[in-house]
Amino acid sequence: MAGTEKTTAKVDEVRPYVEGVAKNLVDKLYGPAGLPWGTTLTELEDVCLGIRAVLTEKMLDVALERQAADHPQRPQELGCCPQCQRPVVCDDVEPRLVQTRAGEAEWLEPQAYCRSCRQAFFPSEHVKKCSCTPADRFFP
Ligand SMILES: [Zn+2]
Repeated sequence: MAGTEKTTAKVDEVRPYVEGVAKNLVDKLYGPAGLPWGTTLTELEDVCLGIRAVLTEKMLDVALERQAADHPQRPQELGCCPQCQRPVVCDDVEPRLVQTRAGEAEWLEPQAYCRSCRQAFFPSEHVKKCSCTPADRFFP
């Protein structure tokens, strides 16, 4: 459950800010008197779910885009081929579109290419597949 605790701590870091944003959104959408009489709970739910989708998709896009842009700083152990553990080249930037539990994520990411395996992959996928350590790798 370490992952859950870490996620909760991250959420708690910004909880007061997000709660302030929620109040501002209610002000902006409905004014100081709040929800207009006659608005159904389903209509309010639809607006809340729509805003949640915009927020999560934007957070995914921005966080992944920034990580991809920071790829020269990627740790050395994440810069190898998941198949042969040899160093790879990352010259090409490709668009990524991934369906996540929180919505669709879209960003640009340098594509890694292994000359030995003649295979391209995205470094962000490497974390799941590769268990190599720096000592395991072969440096040509
Ligand atoms: Zn390889």
